[in-house]
Amino acid sequence: MACHILHSQGKPIAMLSCFCGKWVLNPATGEVITSVPWMGRKETADAIVSSYEAFSSWSKLIATERSKYLRKWYDLIVTTRRSCFTANLEQGKPLKEALGEVGYGANFIEFYAERQSVSMPVGVVAAITPWNFLSRHDYSQAVVKPSEFTPLTALAVAELALQAGIPPGALNVVMGNAPEIGDTLLESPQVRKITFTGSTNVGKKLMAGAAKTVKKVSLELGGNAPCIVFDDADLDLAVRGCLELKFRNSGQTCVSANRIFVQDGIYEKFSGAFSKAVKAMQVGNGLAEGTVQGPLINEAAVQKVESLIKDATSKDIMNSGCEIVLGGKRHSLGMTEEIFGPVAPLLRFKTEKEAIHMANDTNAGLAAFIYTTSIPRSWLVSEALEYGMIGVAPFGGVKQSGLGREGSKYGMDEYMETKYVCLGNI
Ligand code: ADP
Repeated sequence: MACHILHSQGKPIAMLSCFCGKWVLNPATGEVITSVPWMGRKETADAIVSSYEAFSSWSKLIATERSKYLRKWYDLIVTTRRSCFTANLEQGKPLKEALGEVGYGANFIEFYAERQSVSMPVGVVAAITPWNFLSRHDYSQAVVKPSEFTPLTALAVAELALQAGIPPGALNVVMGNAPEIGDTLLESPQVRKITFTGSTNVGKKLMAGAAKTVKKVSLELGGNAPCIVFDDADLDLAVRGCLELKFRNSGQTCVSANRIFVQDGIYEKFSGAFSKAVKAMQVGNGLAEGTVQGPLINEAAVQKVESLIKDATSKDIMNSGCEIVLGGKRHSLGMTEEIFGPVAPLLRFKTEKEAIHMANDTNAGLAAFIYTTSIPRSWLVSEALEYGMIGVAPFGGVKQSGLGREGSKYGMDEYMETKYVCLGNI
C-alpha cells in the first residue's frame, strides 16, 4: 500500500510497502472503508520540517495572491462535496449534516481568504482534531493530526488544497500514535502554535506541554451545555430547538444540550411534545433518505452512554426529583459528565435564580441556550451564565471548556503576533 498524503516539497515522504496502518470503519455498518498508515515521531518530525520550509515562501506571498489559492480551495471543497461523503462514511452522521459541516468549515477558509492583516503570522501551526467534527478551520493549519477514527475527511480536504495550488508542505496530515505525534509537535521549537479540539484532559496535557517551548495554544474542550426553557418560551420553537441542540450528530457535539432545564409551568407540555418529537426521529444509516439519527462513533461510545443510563436509573429517582419521560431514567442533581450521545435529561426548575445556579454548577463553560420570549430576561440570564457562547458569538468557551476563539476577527488574532518596530535615527 502506498501512501501519498504526507508531502515534502512535492514528494511523498510516507511510503508503506506492507500493512502497518489502521483500518477506518463505517460506524453505521461496522464495515472497513479503507486503511491509513500509522505514523509516529519520525513522520511528524518530517511534516514539521516540510511545513517550516513551506512557511517561508507561503507566508511571504502578498495577501491578494494567497487569497486566490484559498478562494480556489474553498470553491473545490464546496463544489466537489467529496469530503461530505467521507465525513458521512467514517463518522456516521446523516449526509445532510455532513453537507452542513463541510460548508461551515469551508466558510472559515472563504472568510480568511478575504481578510487581510497587518500582523505577522505566528509560524507553523499544528492542529489536533477530534472525530465528531472533521472539517472546521483546523484544516487550514500546517500540520494536522486528525482523530484515528476519522482521518479520511482531513485527507480529502488536504488533497483539494493541493489541487487548488497551495504548495505541497504548506499543509500536512499525520495520523497514528496520538501521544507520540502530540509530543513531537509539543517538543518542536518550530511549531509555534497548537490548536486542539477534544477532551479537557488531553487539552490540559497539551497546554502544559506547550509551555516547554512557549507556544501559543487554542483549546476547544468539553462542554456541558445547559438549555433553559422558561415558562414564557414559545413551546414549538423550544421543542424544535432542543431537539436540534440535543440530537445533532446523535448528541456527539461539544455544544450539545447536556442538561435541559424546564420551568415548572411549561414542564408537562414541553416533556410531552419533546418526547413525541424524539419518537418521530428516524434512526438509521446516515446515507439513507430521511435519516436524522446516525450511529454513535464506536462501541466504546455506546457503552459509555449505556453506563450513564444505568448509573442514573440505579439512583433513587423519587428523592432526586427527576421526571422520567422516555427511554431511560435520569436523576436531577445535574449531569456533571458530558453525555456525548442521544440522551436528553429533562430537569425541572422553579425560579430563574435556581436555573442559573444549576446551569453554572459545572467546570465547563462552552455554550448555553435560553428559550424565553422576554428580551429583558434573555439579557439578564445571558449575563449571569458563565459560558463563552450564548446566542451568536465567536466560537469558544470559558472556564475548563477552552482557550481562545475560532472564527471572526478574534479567531484570526489567535494566529498572529503583534510586532513592535521602533525606527530611530533615520
Ligand atoms: P475524544 O475523547 O473526543 O476522542 P480526545 O481528546 O481523546 O477526545 O481526542 C481528540 C484528539 O486528540 C484526537 O485526534 C486524538 O487522537 C488526540 N489525542 C489523544 N490523546 C493525545 C495525546 N496524548 N497527545 C496528543 N493528541 C492526543
